[in-house]
Amino acid sequence: MAELPEAFDVAVIGGGASGMMTAVTAALRGRSVVIIEKNEKLGKKLFITGKGRCNLTNACPEEEIYRHIVTNDKFMYSSIKRFTNQDVMDFFENGGLRLKTERGGRVFPVSDHSSDVIKVLAGRLKESGAEIMLNTCVRKLNLEGDRCLGITAVSGEGKEISIGAESTVVATGGLSYPSTGSDGDGLRFAKEAGLGISPPCPGLVPYEMKGDICRRLQGLSLRNVSVSVTDGTRLIYKSDDPGEMLFTHFGVSGPLILTASSVIKQGAYDRGLKLHIDLKPALDAETLDKRIIRDFAENSNKEFKNSLGMLLPSKLIPVVVGLSGTDPYKKANSVTREERAKLVSILKDMVLDISGPRGFEEAIITKGGVSVKEIDPKTMEARRCRGLFFAGEVLDVDALTGGFNLQIAWSTGYAAGSYV
Ligand SMILES: Cc1cc2nc3c(=O)[nH]c(=O)nc-3n(C[C@H](O)[C@H](O)[C@H](O)COP(=O)(O)OP(=O)(O)OC[C@H]3O[C@@H](n4cnc5c(N)ncnc54)[C@H](O)[C@@H]3O)c2cc1C
Repeated sequence: MAELPEAFDVAVIGGGASGMMTAVTAALRGRSVVIIEKNEKLGKKLFITGKGRCNLTNACPEEEIYRHIVTNDKFMYSSIKRFTNQDVMDFFENGGLRLKTERGGRVFPVSDHSSDVIKVLAGRLKESGAEIMLNTCVRKLNLEGDRCLGITAVSGEGKEISIGAESTVVATGGLSYPSTGSDGDGLRFAKEAGLGISPPCPGLVPYEMKGDICRRLQGLSLRNVSVSVTDGTRLIYKSDDPGEMLFTHFGVSGPLILTASSVIKQGAYDRGLKLHIDLKPALDAETLDKRIIRDFAENSNKEFKNSLGMLLPSKLIPVVVGLSGTDPYKKANSVTREERAKLVSILKDMVLDISGPRGFEEAIITKGGVSVKEIDPKTMEARRCRGLFFAGEVLDVDALTGGFNLQIAWSTGYAAGSYV
């Protein structure tokens, strides 16, 4: 590597989505920029986004974006207005990437390769003249009073490097999928600078469940079901629309569960939460009962356990029969009204006990992070530490799936890059 200057206008810590957007934006404004990434390549997490296809934003109207931001949507108003989802699409299309919009407004590259998204960013970085330092881990911020004067890093060869910078941008991501490099350094930097942190916790993450029902059902995917979560008495969360969930060896996952995990606050799990599954959300209890009467009439001489095949996937039948308490060998035509009522109540409200969310290793996002009270939403600069900026998932902002988390990374990165 060529000898680096000792000082830059801007040092960006982290070569992920938000860091690359910050660095490109700042360098195109003529600032001298260095972007420092601890991995051997840029965008390691971006590479695995959208199952390797990268859902890079959502093509919905602006108000819809805020509706999908679960934490601190108002903080995002100014940066999203300045760099909208359309601006994101234009940025990538102008970089030669063809895009397509799929179900729910999700925007992907036509190639279905996240690597193409990274290529555009890396290409823009090169054109902009930003210096890229890979295999280099930032260890600390160089702080003096209420100012950040740059960073101290360690290169892959173990050499300590001090870089002076008028502006330092922390774009280190959160704590989720630490194998991609996002392992919480940015939160440590923020603490060292005396900034407040909202405690981090895993979001968009599967649930571990008590008991053995999930293990018995592992591999089963349910479509068109609804879920809600209670603490036994009070409703904590209810899915807006029917959707998909699946059972795993440890509990439950799938879109409905990930969304629930993103909305429910960490502390709530201490209260012993319950997952309620409505297996037949399209039918009210009365209509469902009539449907069961019809099914039983058609299967009158079959045993109860063999008469539910039209109503439920086969893997679920022994579990539902067990929960119903009805003798599985009883003939369908002799199931009593009370036994039917119990069956209906299980189908409309199958209750399972939640142990808690899985860990950061499996969480799509980190909830919590640098408190937005500490940050100017227009510039991303820390209010109490001049020259120190934050962008992306390190901030206490998070959203549902659909491209919204990357939109947060692009918009906050653009805001920081426009101001540094
Ligand atoms: C499996 C998975 C799928 C996802 N799919 C989507 C999707 O399709 N759409 C969507 O909108 N969102 C998706 N997300 C979320 C999205 O990837 C993140 O919100 C986004 O990447 C955050 O960008 P960031 O730049 O803030 O952090 P990151 O992308 O995590 O980048 C941070 C970078 O900083 C580097 N770094 C950290 N500490 C240091 C240090 N001390 N020194 C130097 N470098 C450092 C890290 O190595 C990393 O490269 C997905 C997440 C996961 C885990």
